[in-house]
Amino acid sequence: MSDINPFTSSGPGARRVSRIATVAYGARQILIGGGAPVVVQSMTNTDTADAIGTAIQVKDLARAGSELVRITVDRPEAAQAVPAIREQLDKMGIDVPLVGDFHYNGHTLLNDYPDCAKALSKYRINPGNVGKGAKRDTQFAQMIEAACKYDKPVRIGVNWGSLDQALLARIMDQNALRNEPWGAQQVMYEALVTSAIENAIRAEELGLAADRIILSCKVSGVQDLIAVYRELARRCDYPLHLGLTEAGMGSKGIVASTAALSILLQEGIGDTIRISLTPEPGGDRTKEIVVAQEILQTMGLRKFAPMVIACPGCGRTTSTVFQDLADKIQTYLRDQMPVWKKAYPGVEGMNVAVMGCIVNGPGESKHANIGISLPGTGESPAAPVFIDGEKKMTLRGERIAEEFQGIVLDYVKKRYSGQTVG
Ligand code: SF4
Repeated sequence: MSDINPFTSSGPGARRVSRIATVAYGARQILIGGGAPVVVQSMTNTDTADAIGTAIQVKDLARAGSELVRITVDRPEAAQAVPAIREQLDKMGIDVPLVGDFHYNGHTLLNDYPDCAKALSKYRINPGNVGKGAKRDTQFAQMIEAACKYDKPVRIGVNWGSLDQALLARIMDQNALRNEPWGAQQVMYEALVTSAIENAIRAEELGLAADRIILSCKVSGVQDLIAVYRELARRCDYPLHLGLTEAGMGSKGIVASTAALSILLQEGIGDTIRISLTPEPGGDRTKEIVVAQEILQTMGLRKFAPMVIACPGCGRTTSTVFQDLADKIQTYLRDQMPVWKKAYPGVEGMNVAVMGCIVNGPGESKHANIGISLPGTGESPAAPVFIDGEKKMTLRGERIAEEFQGIVLDYVKKRYSGQTVG
């Protein structure tokens, strides 16, 4: 028998070695890069000039687990509102750092509204939307000067929807001189990566420390994103913000983001992520946080909330009892986390199994911290509960969901406050 174990390479690969940047608000310090845990961030979709509405959405995103929240700062009314948003958040006890998203007029807004510049913890600069011609360099420099003056980190965030056209033309000219010119797609990739790196170097020349710079190069195609970030990661050591831009709605947005980000994260690329989901009309903005956290947790990179393992159901279980129970338990666990994560350290690593019948139910339940195997069609109407791999009790009757929830809570209290589970 061979001694070579083929199963030793599971788990994400080694993280890319990058500088470490710090984004701070008060005592709260978020580390990005340098091997720090991958940071989850989000962006509001309120009118920033509506200080109360924006503060409420930032609070919701922060409570859902967003570690940085970006807000658009697009006009004087928005810039004026930023200090008021910060103040409202302070009153609500929300210390999440705010990132200002600037396009076209950031140089003016940061100069004209110093309280806005101070209240933000980081500036996002899109080098494709800083200005044209001779004004471009001056306006970029003004934004970097503001970052230096107020001691703020920046993200140089390139997006292929707003790529610097002068730079693209230059890369195309260079390409034309090649003996074997690249295709249009490769030229686009090169322009994205060059834009990010050249602007980062320019920011350093203007006096911004290298460890105050984070880069991103967002595109909307999965294969494009992978190709661009692999090259960006190879050519620099700045921390990288990862996200598939304009990912889309519903399952398409979730699947596309997960496919692209998972491959890069598995290769150790990406220090902070945002999932750019288009909310359904009236949908919940915090969905993008849940997706980001679930990508990181299912890949084994971070732990945020207990995971529910549930079978898909099949013809062996025609009732929806187990679907309802899985849904209720998942919602319950996530709702408890703001309190539990302080009271019961380690609970975010707990697994709960909710299974539909005897085929895989007991086996899967034994692998979880706590699991329940509901009765399938034709099975005796009894639901065995397994705790740490052992069958501990059997639930029956109409109140299985409530009783199981109580058992989970009891387990959490005992297991994660240092007591032994009996
Ligand atoms: S555990 Fe039972 S109900 Fe669930 S998918 Fe498997 S066979 Fe079907």
